[in-house]
Amino acid sequence: MDPRPGRAGIPRAGVGPSHFTGQCLCSAIQYEVTGEPIGMVKCHCRDCQRETGGGQAATVMFTAEDLEMKSGSPKVFAIQGETGHEAFRRFWPDCGSYLFAGSTGRPDFVGVQAGSLDDPSVFKTNAHVWTVSAQHWDLLDRDISQFERTRPRK
Ligand SMILES: [Zn+2]
Repeated sequence: MDPRPGRAGIPRAGVGPSHFTGQCLCSAIQYEVTGEPIGMVKCHCRDCQRETGGGQAATVMFTAEDLEMKSGSPKVFAIQGETGHEAFRRFWPDCGSYLFAGSTGRPDFVGVQAGSLDDPSVFKTNAHVWTVSAQHWDLLDRDISQFERTRPRK
């Protein structure tokens, strides 16, 4: 493992400097991400809670072109976000796995659901967002940046 942090302080993965694989629960969807992670966000918005069935969605952001499907093609569900852009969620209906997130407001980025990666342990959270709707039974790491709604763009 290369100990140097990548962008946004995320440690690089051990499998090459920036090569990650993942899949859905039934393995019908298999993918590869070859770029460097931009950051990892835990989103506590109500949409992510409904999508995951839990308190938050843990998402690793990559450049959209870094993602390559190796098997299958996830179904897309789009919903109007509060920012006025359409938020996309891509999932595999057969096993119910939520895999990728995106927005028409940021088409050059893709959010990979951390739990769908083959080794989610190499990533570190950079921010909690939408803490305004965080559930009291869902723990927040107080050492990590928190935003009541979306993270302001730099
Ligand atoms: Zn969310």
